[in-house]
Amino acid sequence: MSDSPATAPTLSRVPIIEGWFTDDVHAPHLIGSKCPLCGTFVFPPRSGDCPSPFCDSTTLEPTPLSRRGKVWSYTENRYTPPPPYVPTEPFEPYALAAVELEAEGLVVLGKVATGVLAADLKVGMEMQLELDVSHRDADHEYMVYVWAPARPSAASTASATASTTDGGAA
Ligand SMILES: [Zn+2]
Repeated sequence: MSDSPATAPTLSRVPIIEGWFTDDVHAPHLIGSKCPLCGTFVFPPRSGDCPSPFCDSTTLEPTPLSRRGKVWSYTENRYTPPPPYVPTEPFEPYALAAVELEAEGLVVLGKVATGVLAADLKVGMEMQLELDVSHRDADHEYMVYVWAPARPSAASTASATASTTDGGAA
């Protein structure tokens, strides 16, 4: 047992689950599957038959999913989950959010970024996908995707009329 070394070793980053998300820390994407015939999306990614009962496709293709979505539901976990969850010591409560992806309409459950709890969340709130360290061992940092409150959009059109009121279209 050695106490904290002066220089931290370089840990290699590995996804906690292979193939569910890309490893670009700045702009990670979930990887889902898409039916080439009817366009139905699936997450987690898988192969095989299209889940749509109206479609005969027997193949699904891997596809990146949108990074943004809106909170559909959320909760907070105040008890240590069973293995394979690797708890922090001491256990810190964390929030879980089901986020409806912007483009695909798919609802994806995920842990919420560290420090953001249920009191900070609201149904309909904009979220974005980020990567966080789940836990570490001697050689690795295990990365997990998390939902984080979306930052004020980088792609915001600042000059556009900021507050267009929805004029009750029938
Ligand atoms: Zn299909």
